[in-house]
Amino acid sequence: MNKIKEIKDFLISCRCVLLRYNPIRSECGLVKIGNPSSASPVFVSGNYFHTVKRIEKELRGLDCYLLVCDSAGINVWCASGVCDFNEHKIADAVNSTGLSGIVCHRRLILPLLCASGVNLGALEKECGFKGVFGPADFRDIKKYVNGGFKLNPQMRLVRFAFAERYYNAFGMFAVFLLPVIALKIIAGKKHEGKIHFLLLMNFLNIFSNFMLYDRLPFKYPANNSLFIGAIIQSAIAAYSVFKKPFKLASFLFYSLSAFAINFLVSIDMLGSTPFYKTTIAHWLASGDNKSLFQPLISKDLCSGCGSCAQVCPKGLFTETGGSISVDYSRECCECLACVKQCAAGAIKNKNGRTFKDDIKSIENIDQIMI
Ligand code: SF4
Ligand code: SF4
Repeated sequence: MNKIKEIKDFLISCRCVLLRYNPIRSECGLVKIGNPSSASPVFVSGNYFHTVKRIEKELRGLDCYLLVCDSAGINVWCASGVCDFNEHKIADAVNSTGLSGIVCHRRLILPLLCASGVNLGALEKECGFKGVFGPADFRDIKKYVNGGFKLNPQMRLVRFAFAERYYNAFGMFAVFLLPVIALKIIAGKKHEGKIHFLLLMNFLNIFSNFMLYDRLPFKYPANNSLFIGAIIQSAIAAYSVFKKPFKLASFLFYSLSAFAINFLVSIDMLGSTPFYKTTIAHWLASGDNKSLFQPLISKDLCSGCGSCAQVCPKGLFTETGGSISVDYSRECCECLACVKQCAAGAIKNKNGRTFKDDIKSIENIDQIMI
């Protein structure tokens, strides 16, 4: 029976990877891992099916609880920024599972990447449980537990590891595949060569981008995509010139369709996070996809609590002896977790009003504009 469930879960996970824009929700509730007691830790996750299964697998060997909360079936990082995962969703899960009668402590370990959407003070008021942020990557959970529930600076940083890139490449390829399949159905055998070419372009652009993400010469992923596009265009031009007779209409079709696919992939690569770091206009004008949000700490308001340093997934903040400094050489991804967790409202945007501003979980966004 367990084997059948594992196979079913695996197939659903494959479906999640292939159609990532249409995520599958896992059932919300409290999952027992091992033989937990009333003193066992409680880890919190969203209800994106694929992630829940991966976390359950990662937690094997520990005795703990996994509290699966409604995140609209989206990963917590994306969901937190758009108010689909917040303190209310977690409190709902705590109350509906009767967690306070199951464990004797009042502590929840939250994924660090939900810091842009969860107000810890409000969470405690709403359900009596105190939230603490655990590792950004669930693959660090065992290290975190074995290290006495302490985060080292590396565990706070978001990673875009090979496995994620591989999943994303498949997911994106599946999305780009749909219009090609539609074309194939409409055009039938008549334009088979051209349709196979579009398929090849999709495959080459997407997989070379994701797999060579950190191997190509340019700093920004979107510019690496254009670099790949330039190589492909050169190959198309060379092929067209040497193929006799040269047909201008075919050359234009191959060249323009390859450019269009490459440009769409480049736009997707503007951000290596769920949110684009910058605006398309800024990327086209400047060639960089740096975030236009640059945290500036108002010394008058800052209490030196260190919360911003604890939640920044890009490591921009350093805390030394109660004083916080910002390292602008590190790239901000505009998640606004620092702003959300700064109770003093001390973080402003150095660039004033100009930033992408697609995070919806900050109650008073005007407070950060200077
Ligand atoms: S979170 Fe706000 S108050 Fe706390 S150290 Fe950072 S800037 Fe200062
Ligand atoms: S500095 Fe940038 S990356 Fe770091 S928490 Fe703030 S918005 Fe997010």
